[in-house]
Amino acid sequence: MKNLLSYLPVVLSLLIAPTLAAREIAFTFDDAPTPDSALMTGQERTTRLIDALIAAKVPDALLFVKADYINNDTQKRLTQYTAAGFHLANHSYSHKSASELGILDYPADVYKAHLLLKSYKNFLPYHRFPFLHYGKDVAAIASLQQSLTELGYKDGYVTIDNFDWYVSSLLTKAAEEKKTIDYDKARKFYVEMLYESIEFYDAMAKKSLGRSPQHVMLLHENDAAALFVGDLIAHLRTKGWKIVSPQQAYQDPIARNFPNVAFHKQGRVAAIANSKGAPESELRHPSENIEYLDKAFSAANIIK
Ligand SMILES: [Zn+2]
Repeated sequence: MKNLLSYLPVVLSLLIAPTLAAREIAFTFDDAPTPDSALMTGQERTTRLIDALIAAKVPDALLFVKADYINNDTQKRLTQYTAAGFHLANHSYSHKSASELGILDYPADVYKAHLLLKSYKNFLPYHRFPFLHYGKDVAAIASLQQSLTELGYKDGYVTIDNFDWYVSSLLTKAAEEKKTIDYDKARKFYVEMLYESIEFYDAMAKKSLGRSPQHVMLLHENDAAALFVGDLIAHLRTKGWKIVSPQQAYQDPIARNFPNVAFHKQGRVAAIANSKGAPESELRHPSENIEYLDKAFSAANIIK
């Protein structure tokens, strides 16, 4: 009995270790600097987001800039991010689909954004495709990758896709219609939906890679993020997740694993899983769907 008991700490640590092992994730925000909404001005949104990220003690965050949003007013918001220590990257100028613009016009659009972004302090040469549209077919995708490399860019891929933008648009719409928002319920909805998508793509990674990579979370510089990202981060930490910088996450070996498939619009992990034979229908969480979210949002009784 004494011998068996002496093994108890080892057995317990083995049982606990898999659940508490640090799973790592970095935060990125697309479409900055997004204009004013009925819920808050762009300026308020930026200040709230910075305050939330600093309060949550994240090591860094990367803002993918839609460069045609930059004007005399909004450029101050970009400087506000960099002054707080966060980094900026390229999300094209006009935010058109690379699959539609094609292999010549799309790189020109990225270069137009580059000229506006390159002199910002804390600018990093990462590029993210609008809508995660990497090109219309495998040949176009390869050509666009080549052009972006020539422009000095690395792929600002995501591993966790989700519809945060749609949830935020439902809240903004409620504000436009002067309805009352139950913020506690909205917070719970946002945190649960995004947490589920993170676990969904992590499980997919474990299945197709055999391990949990350093993840890159796709969010947007929107009202919902400004209101609730701190709650999402707190929730992730209670589940054993660790927040890392995007620059660290992009050191993961999957950064060098660009699968030769046409399917990239659900992120890098889904693309890798697809290249190993998983059908597209299995590579999308149910909440990445407007009808599903409309129903769930309405059932959650968020808007009065
Ligand atoms: Zn975007």
